[in-house]
Amino acid sequence: MANDSNRFQAIISHCKEYGFIFPSSEIYDGLQAVYDYGQMGSELKKNIKDYWWKSMTQLRDNIVGIDAAIFMHPTTWKASGHVDNFNDPMIDNRDSKKRYRVDHLIEGFADELRTAGNENAAAQVIETMEALLGADDFAGLKKLIEEKQIKCAVSGTCNWTDIRQFNLMFATEFGSTVSTEDEDNKVYLRPETAQGIFVNFLNVQKTGRMKVPFGIAQIGKAFRNEIVARQFIFRMREFEQMEMQFFVRPGTQQQWYEYWKEERLKWHLALGIPSSSYRYHDHVKLAHYADAACDIEFEFPMGFKELEGIHSRTDFDLKQHQEFSKKKQQYFDNEVDPATGKPYGNYIPYVIETSIGLDRMFLAVLSHAYEEQDLSTPEKTDSRVVLKLPAALSPIKMAVLPLNKKDGLPEIAEEIIASCRNDFRCFYEEKDSIGKRYRRMDALGTPFCVTVDYQTKEDQTVTIRHRDSMEQERVPITALKELVLKAMA
Ligand code: ATP
Repeated sequence: MANDSNRFQAIISHCKEYGFIFPSSEIYDGLQAVYDYGQMGSELKKNIKDYWWKSMTQLRDNIVGIDAAIFMHPTTWKASGHVDNFNDPMIDNRDSKKRYRVDHLIEGFADELRTAGNENAAAQVIETMEALLGADDFAGLKKLIEEKQIKCAVSGTCNWTDIRQFNLMFATEFGSTVSTEDEDNKVYLRPETAQGIFVNFLNVQKTGRMKVPFGIAQIGKAFRNEIVARQFIFRMREFEQMEMQFFVRPGTQQQWYEYWKEERLKWHLALGIPSSSYRYHDHVKLAHYADAACDIEFEFPMGFKELEGIHSRTDFDLKQHQEFSKKKQQYFDNEVDPATGKPYGNYIPYVIETSIGLDRMFLAVLSHAYEEQDLSTPEKTDSRVVLKLPAALSPIKMAVLPLNKKDGLPEIAEEIIASCRNDFRCFYEEKDSIGKRYRRMDALGTPFCVTVDYQTKEDQTVTIRHRDSMEQERVPITALKELVLKAMA
């Protein structure tokens, strides 16, 4: 369902109406490209984090997690290349004064060609753009925009400025005690979490007695002063990343790159989202640090877009940190090289990175789960909105609903919740008709609704309703916990 803007709008409204996502500081009309997660959203987000963290650290012997600070010594960003290279080529429309990222402007045009059935022309435009971007040929890019008569969406004109570079890092002041050589008190809000891992490479390796190949994982906030910050939580100025740097012996990076490319896609597919919603996009233009890179793209409501990046970063970062800090970033490999009969010895490891945006993953999961269903029968019109979230990710796992507010039914419901709340999140609701309560739980993505009725008092059984099939079955109260835990596994 590519480019379905109505569906996208419906998802955004749903997020707000049901407490998943609110615009930041909304009472002051919001802050562009910054969002707050509400009572349901923060649960879903946390569950996605836990799912990633568990699969990347707990289930593996050779990956450990850290939690580095957002502020880092400013030299970090000189060493990493972000001060000089973390730029996007931008172009302004003179009439509307609107600024565009050049690649987005051209990609938007290619999308239009594709929608009009002009697949070949679209592919050609993208290919030309990638070659020009790769060569940093800004004059060529501007010529392409003019030749193709690519227009500003606001003014509708083709009146463009020259293309310029724009740095995406936010900077702030750090008080008066820090003094770095030239820029004194300036510190950056990290634009990626990866550097917090690189500067701790030896701390973790030594204290954790890690042997190459091993990985360091981290989840945390990152900040980018994105110019074209639209599309809801797809492109934010403050967002969260889940990154893992995997340190390998030089020369083995290609094999590990292929390994992680496959592993990461498997992780996505294990959530039950069909493989047709994903595709790889191999990079032609490589970042300054990479010797191979690809994206895992997801079919968002606005089409296929990057969800996760897998990059073979060579020894670029560690080497740079060694040079700028004057501290050796080497690892001693005592394994014997069969070619020489001697240990591999000292080297700076190569790195494979997997980097996924938590917020983008949230949007991917949510947009796949969102379904508007027509349940009308010849007798009456009916519909529902349901979030078909995997049970492990749902904010609430089980709602317990007494049929009536009296006759001891609420007390039984409370007892059921008390017996399960230590294992998973439960929710109690006694207001409105059972049908309305079911609909509300469908809209929140709750996989199970348990109804306590008069028969419960007789035989300790309840009705459990399955969200997706809407089927109901009678089960003993004692079977509930196992049933829900099994669905979450
Ligand atoms: P894009 O091309 O979309 O700007 P990128 O290639 O700059 O993304 P990376 O630097 O590889 O992104 O970052 C890794 C991941 O972090 C991305 O795959 C994406 O999921 C997430 N990410 C990057 N920028 C943002 C943002 N502004 N808002 C939300 N998530 C982001």
